[in-house]
Amino acid sequence: MKILVAVKRVVDYNVKVHVLPDNSGVDIGTAKMSMNPFDEIAVEEAVRLKEAGKADEVVAVSIGAAKTLDTLRVAMAMGADRSIHVTTDAALEPAAVAKVLAKVVQSEQPDLVLLGKQAIDDDASQVAQMLSAYADMPVATCANKIDLEADCVTVERETDDGSMTVKAALPAIVSADLRLAEPRYVTLPSMMKAKKKPVQAVDLADFGVDVSARLTTLTVQEPPARAAGVKLNNVDELIHVLKNTAKVL
Ligand code: AMP
Repeated sequence: MKILVAVKRVVDYNVKVHVLPDNSGVDIGTAKMSMNPFDEIAVEEAVRLKEAGKADEVVAVSIGAAKTLDTLRVAMAMGADRSIHVTTDAALEPAAVAKVLAKVVQSEQPDLVLLGKQAIDDDASQVAQMLSAYADMPVATCANKIDLEADCVTVERETDDGSMTVKAALPAIVSADLRLAEPRYVTLPSMMKAKKKPVQAVDLADFGVDVSARLTTLTVQEPPARAAGVKLNNVDELIHVLKNTAKVL
């Protein structure tokens, strides 16, 4: 049983990014970067499945510039056995990422592919679904529980209406939601050990896939500033405001 986990290096969730003066994007020049939080959850789940004896190997894969190797090292410090680093300085759109991951799936032949439900930088939430189409594999998104068996996977998914349980034959793709697993703390000794784990670097160009952009960013803007709150003195004032200003009563 082999699990492939896709991890993306993104701006750390604690960083407040600022829009570039020409509105072409956000300034991430010197920002702290980390593994996408949903991908940390996916790695944790993959490692737990291995620790539970349900998987034999966990392989992390990431597409990105040289520094992406740091993110893969974190995945290996968490317990991934080895990594594949698809090197490129270009920022790929979700469809291009899915095409490249489909090639990795073709060569690695994993039984289960785990991804985050969305990357917190583009908030696209598209790669798992597109990979399902390109790799012709079933996909269950937003998982908060995974039950892996030899030939199938049962996934409990979070939906707006409650929880939905689905089952898919392997090989399958699952994307991780917030409550799937709590990522472990990465210790210094585990980081040192991770440095000895194998990383296969492959140039994006070697995949021979068309990763050209299909979207043009017209403008990027800061969200509108929130109006300051009002402090009320008593419940009567609150009811008055709710009735006459907010008009919700
Ligand atoms: P998105 O559809 O862009 O919100 O991303 C969903 C998931 O796809 C992420 O949580 C990652 O698991 C995976 N992913 C996106 N971009 C990359 C990348 N450059 N390298 C590896 N995995 C990625």
